[in-house]
Amino acid sequence: MKIFNSMNQKVEEFKPLHPNEVHMYVCGPTVYNYPHIGNARPIVVFDTLRRTFQAIGYNVKMVSNYTDVDDKIIKVAKECGVSEAEITEKFINAYNHDRLSLHAAMPDAAPRVTETMDAIIAFIKLLVDKGHAYEIEGDVYFRVNSVESYGKLSNQQIEDLLVGARIDENSKKENPLDFTLWKKTEEGIKWDSPWSVGRPGWHTECVVMINQEFGGEHTIDIHGGGMDLKFPHHENEIAQSRAAYDSPIANYWIHNGMVNIDGEKMSKSLGNVIWAKDMIAKIGGNVLRWVMLSAHYRAPLNINEEAIETAKKELNRVATAMKQAYVKLGLADVMVDETYDEKQLAPFLEAMQDDLNTPNAFAAVFETVKVLNQALRQRESDLQAVKALVRTLEKMMDVLGIELARLTMSEEDKQLHRQWKAAVKEKDFDTADQYRAKLIEKGIL
Ligand SMILES: [Zn+2]
Repeated sequence: MKIFNSMNQKVEEFKPLHPNEVHMYVCGPTVYNYPHIGNARPIVVFDTLRRTFQAIGYNVKMVSNYTDVDDKIIKVAKECGVSEAEITEKFINAYNHDRLSLHAAMPDAAPRVTETMDAIIAFIKLLVDKGHAYEIEGDVYFRVNSVESYGKLSNQQIEDLLVGARIDENSKKENPLDFTLWKKTEEGIKWDSPWSVGRPGWHTECVVMINQEFGGEHTIDIHGGGMDLKFPHHENEIAQSRAAYDSPIANYWIHNGMVNIDGEKMSKSLGNVIWAKDMIAKIGGNVLRWVMLSAHYRAPLNINEEAIETAKKELNRVATAMKQAYVKLGLADVMVDETYDEKQLAPFLEAMQDDLNTPNAFAAVFETVKVLNQALRQRESDLQAVKALVRTLEKMMDVLGIELARLTMSEEDKQLHRQWKAAVKEKDFDTADQYRAKLIEKGIL
């Protein structure tokens, strides 16, 4: 497996920390609203990465958190006159509903900040004790200058970052780049700590959760998230891990590109934010997933009517060929088994293992569909070939997370199909049409 490592901007051969295992962490959502279509992309991308690793024999442990403590959550809770917990529960459920609608498996663990607080406070204390963090009037900041190579992931120099940093006149910080680990607060949900009653900043939770969920190991294989998380969030995670444990938090950093709508950046001010749930309701999880995978995960993805129509057509082409194969095999009482067409499967898996090159993998799918259609059009179809080709397509769809149910024909279905064919042969078109309508109703034609 080759993956593009954002840390050094190179495609690298994946070498796991443990044989045949992948330890992967993906930054999860801040649960104060429904996931929009941009939030849906990492769901699909990292689920597809997980499926690809599984397809080539790895065990994947995937962890993804819920940020259920945040200023935005507190604001929404206040506006609605309910507790923060009520808001976060609602949107965690909404997120998982979308995740499952997109055929993404639940992570193996999904820790919440509210349930990790003791460990977060202990971790901040460790950073303070080691001199990597300091307290001022109840707030705690990370001392960015205390670690080397800050800015490497986002490819920025400290000096350049300082120029770009907003200098807050009233800031008590030693350095404008120092970020908040603990914030003293009077408002909203809060916890006791050695420094003040308050709540943690956003950048600490992932470091603590990784340490907790992966058996106390400070380094995992893959850390993922959207491109927008590189700086400051991931940079700050790296700095804290380096400071606390003197180890890299992850060996490979994978970032997915952003989503545009009709060529424009999605934003509240433009009023073009699309909730994933609305898009799923409109076009279905399969089509949305197909659209998402039609572009390479690192490239920006433009969603528009044309992309959706293309996805529908392409998916339909695959589904139709598979259905025709099932009917042909069903009529001949040939069962689909675990025989694959290795010649067709190889380029598909090769593309997926080439930094998840889904456009090339799609090309391998279409080539297989073409070969299957040719086999189906033969006067005497090679049923063994059809069987292996359709199983191969099933496998490809499984790796891509596209759910197309295998069609099985009952004796009654087969009888109906034979009667239809016989009526056509006898040129009894009225009767044939009646059978045909029944077969369509049953989803066989
Ligand atoms: Zn994170």
